[in-house]
Amino acid sequence: MNILIMGPAGAGKGTMSNLIVKEYDIPHISTGDMLRENVKNDTELGKKAKSFMDTGRLVPDDVINAMVEKRLQQPDCSKGYLLDGYPRTLVQAKAFEKIADSIGKPVEIVLALEVEFDILVDRITGRRVCSNCGAIYHIHGHMPKQAGKCDKCGADLMIRKDDTVEQLKVRMKDYENSTKPVIDYYAKAGKVTKINAGQNQREVFKEVNEALGKVA
Ligand SMILES: [Zn+2]
Repeated sequence: MNILIMGPAGAGKGTMSNLIVKEYDIPHISTGDMLRENVKNDTELGKKAKSFMDTGRLVPDDVINAMVEKRLQQPDCSKGYLLDGYPRTLVQAKAFEKIADSIGKPVEIVLALEVEFDILVDRITGRRVCSNCGAIYHIHGHMPKQAGKCDKCGADLMIRKDDTVEQLKVRMKDYENSTKPVIDYYAKAGKVTKINAGQNQREVFKEVNEALGKVA
């Protein structure tokens, strides 16, 4: 199954992606991972991307698009793919439609994770991260055994500097500006299923599964 997953930071895309990947035996592909992989393996596209990243510039669409095109043709995508964080803009979405059609892997469903702002605020501002190993905790849920200390390594927990309401508002605006047009684009093609991602994980995955069941 060929799936796109979209949602703002804090919507739980990572968790849902892990569950989908297990259930449907398809790879989870994010542009961040793909970029790192290409740079690490020193591919032609990786070299190109690196020249932009090294000078603090955005990697241009044509490089990203070419990476996606290559990636989706690898054997582990024989049963489909779960794309995360791509396409990020309307321009990318239009380019990707051509690519996906040309390799015979058009998008079948877009999962749009939606969460009320108040719930996002709680999720983001309650997050505590280990300053040493990066383990993640939450003050309303996954609490460490000893307050302020990591269960795994004992180091101090901290609040990431981006995990504030102000930063969340900025990220939400960015998300709305760039990604909403992408969702609208796929909605016109009848491919979008909105998921209420403000519920607990099990409920969210149940909705996701029902949506995917209608495609398969
Ligand atoms: Zn730790």
